[in-house]
Amino acid sequence: MMSVDAATGTFVFGLGRDAAPSAVLVIERPDGTRETRMLAVARRDWRIERVDWLPPDTVTPPPEVRARIAREGAAIREARANGRATLDFLGGFSWPAKGRISGVFGSQRILNGESRAPHLGTDIAAPAGTPVAAPAPGLVTLAEVYLYYTGGTIIIDHGHGVTSVYAHLSAVTVWSGEAVARGGIIGAVGATGRASGPHLHWGLNWLGTPLDPELAAGTMP
Ligand SMILES: [Zn+2]
Repeated sequence: MMSVDAATGTFVFGLGRDAAPSAVLVIERPDGTRETRMLAVARRDWRIERVDWLPPDTVTPPPEVRARIAREGAAIREARANGRATLDFLGGFSWPAKGRISGVFGSQRILNGESRAPHLGTDIAAPAGTPVAAPAPGLVTLAEVYLYYTGGTIIIDHGHGVTSVYAHLSAVTVWSGEAVARGGIIGAVGATGRASGPHLHWGLNWLGTPLDPELAAGTMP
């Protein structure tokens, strides 16, 4: 399954953290011809990351917040599912904020001493209040001041299933439905939700598959 731009034939897809060592790319052209390519997927080693001093309720949520967490998870999936037919992702991605990289994509996580799901984004440590800029043009599909795990959260749709997420924000200064330009300020770094200190959690997705933002943005200038 792939997202193809009908006008240009441009297509986009992403391979996730636990992708198989090879992938098969099948191209079917409008004239009925077919081309098959084998893609070798580079192996990566994942770090183990320990984070302590997180609010305990955000590592093991109490039963009474389960319904809220499920509702917020559904809203996040919905914000990523649309895949508008624009090519906003084609110009590449800039860094949304600058600072020390305090958490990398894919690492196995031990939170307050307990094993949890892998980290599926890049953490950039920066003082609370540091402006966060859109790394590429797009349309805001979610803007919430306080989700349970991710606190102040924004999702931007960059077209054909490519979306980006910004979490733990102290301020959210865009609305859902708003168009943003590359470099436009969307909010501010914070420590809301499951965070032990101020940082930006930046994630990149192709539909439901989380991708490594560092691979898209390259070395931080
Ligand atoms: Zn993070």
